[in-house]
Amino acid sequence: MKSLDEFASRKLAQLEEQGLRRVLVETDRHDSVRVARNGRELVSFCCNDYLGLTHHPDLKKAARKAIERYGVGAGASRLITGNHPLFRELELRLAALKGTEDAVVFGSGYLANLGIVPALVGKGDLIVADELCHACLLAGSRLSGADEVRFPHNDVEAVASLLRGQRAGYRRCLVLTDGVFSMDGDLAPVPALARLAAENDAWLMTDDAHGVGVVGNGRGSSYAFGGRVDVPLQMGTLSKAIGSYGGYLCTSKKVADLIRTRARTLIYATGLPPASAAAAIAAIDLIRSDRDLTGAPVAKAAAFCNGVGLPDPVSPIVPLHLGTADRAMAASALLEAEGFLVTAIRPPTVPDGTARLRFTFTATHHEEDVARLAAVVRGKLGVEAGAAQ
Ligand SMILES: *Cc1c(COP(=O)(O)O)cnc(C)c1O
Repeated sequence: MKSLDEFASRKLAQLEEQGLRRVLVETDRHDSVRVARNGRELVSFCCNDYLGLTHHPDLKKAARKAIERYGVGAGASRLITGNHPLFRELELRLAALKGTEDAVVFGSGYLANLGIVPALVGKGDLIVADELCHACLLAGSRLSGADEVRFPHNDVEAVASLLRGQRAGYRRCLVLTDGVFSMDGDLAPVPALARLAAENDAWLMTDDAHGVGVVGNGRGSSYAFGGRVDVPLQMGTLSKAIGSYGGYLCTSKKVADLIRTRARTLIYATGLPPASAAAAIAAIDLIRSDRDLTGAPVAKAAAFCNGVGLPDPVSPIVPLHLGTADRAMAASALLEAEGFLVTAIRPPTVPDGTARLRFTFTATHHEEDVARLAAVVRGKLGVEAGAAQ
């Protein structure tokens, strides 16, 4: 169609001009940190494979075994015939890891958020969301039809005053936040939010995509403040520290049963492939048994911050704010010339004027590579480092 192609090229040209066009680059991940691009090997500091589990022998073996036993695809939605025996095992493992009664597994984290939020709230309900929540939480919020108000990032006072002022005018209320913020690496004030939500009969939901496996001894943001914070809805992904693919919600038995009956992205989407479920089960067993492993990513991030002169990190994610998209792209190119892969993060993934490099650290990074990266960032991006945060 002529008008369709014309629309696409006009839109692309416009994005190109703003430095916001995105392109896919083929990347061959040799292991969890070494990647090949355009025939060159680079050390990646931008994968979310925090524990190096995507290439772990235990996960590969579990996935191979599952394929031999159950085939490569689930064959249907979980409610038809796609609910192979590995699902229940995985859900029980997740519930045990998070200390909840039950868990529900989805096709991906994005699908989980699109399914969970509209299953719990709708028209006549209120959603109170951190302004920096992940795109798919906000997409789920929009899809629900509930009224949505955003509060300034991590501002507990603002949440208190919003709930005080508006809660009474609504039937149900959901409070949404990332546990660990994906582009900033900071933690949500989970204990204070849980207390406020409970006091106001609001339901707190944390998106712990970047928390599980790496904070709170691997159990996620509900455990990152000493003890266990009671968060009734803990969502996450199997695709980051867990090294596989899929999404989940850890919650009470009753809520899990409701989600299995009502979440449209579970009902109308094919179940996760058996190999993905099997690999995730193997990963959770490693996370539960190896404290050294789960502590390593934050320790590597701390070594980097120390080398550059940045404040101590609370997660494996360290942002370096550069302002414009062009500056972020130039800094990324400079690091690539030094053998490091650190993708630039630009709007609309992050707010306008806050384009950045986002460094992620993993258990499998070599200390020498972390030290050399810190030296290059300090030496060649020195001015920017001073202006970070
Ligand atoms: C990656 C991510 C998701 C999406 O999870 P997928 O399993 O990759 O779809 C959701 N929330 C946050 C905060 C994420 O970083």
